[in-house]
Amino acid sequence: MNKTIITVKDLVRNYGQFQAVKGISFEVKEGEIFGLLGPNGAGKSTTLEIIETLRPKTSGTVIVDGFDLDKEPHEIKKIIGVQLQTSGYYPGLNLLQLIELFCGLYNREVDPMELLDMVNLRDKAKAQVKELSGGQKQRFSVATTLINEPRIIFLDEPTTGLDPQARRSLWELVRNIRARGTTVIITTHYMDEAEYLCDRVAIIDAGRIIALDTPDKLIDNLVASGFERPKEMKMANLEDVFISLTGHSLRED
Ligand code: ADP
Ligand code: MG
Repeated sequence: MNKTIITVKDLVRNYGQFQAVKGISFEVKEGEIFGLLGPNGAGKSTTLEIIETLRPKTSGTVIVDGFDLDKEPHEIKKIIGVQLQTSGYYPGLNLLQLIELFCGLYNREVDPMELLDMVNLRDKAKAQVKELSGGQKQRFSVATTLINEPRIIFLDEPTTGLDPQARRSLWELVRNIRARGTTVIITTHYMDEAEYLCDRVAIIDAGRIIALDTPDKLIDNLVASGFERPKEMKMANLEDVFISLTGHSLRED
């Protein structure tokens, strides 16, 4: 097993009287795609943003690559990639200029075209963010997380609202990023996405982790408990039909 890169222990976050995160603990291994799954309001974003140093916690311990969030948040910031809301990008700049701007902010030399290639946006280099489709915006936003060559990237519901082709394209991008050795933490409420992408998942409900394992193991446990699907599954589903008819390639240009 790889070494642990993130340790979260007894993490609590209160908003006034309301406890959004109720003492959760988990570890993320270096190089894995780790999923935080749960319905809206479960506490996924709160947990993610605390680890990202963007939101204060109420109590508990967070260690990222050996750095304690309470003592060395700046060291943590240096090794993580955080996805910004695309609405927050400077208007008037094109993708190339935005990447150059971020390179300046992070003090990094990155070849902007190489980065755009990686997220399949080379031909949009001169476009502004507002001219991109939903899937393209998400891919660009993922690209910006890579500029500081992070050890870990955080993706909060990156595929929500995307059509099937754009979702699959983003999945491939996430796999490519992990193939380069980057650890990925992703939140989602799509179980097919988690099953396809994640090495391990923590299922969060109402601020508590109610299960944590590989998708395979969680499914095996359920089957071992006597669970059976009400009707036999077909070899494909309607999404497979849709993708097969309309094609795997992107249709968002
Ligand atoms: P998720 O990302 O899983 O949808 P969140 O972490 O955004 O969940 O929210 C968890 C709970 O905390 C929700 O009930 C939400 O309404 C509440 N919450 C989130 N942010 C705030 C805030 N700034 N002030 C008060 N309550 C909040
Ligand atoms: Mg959220």
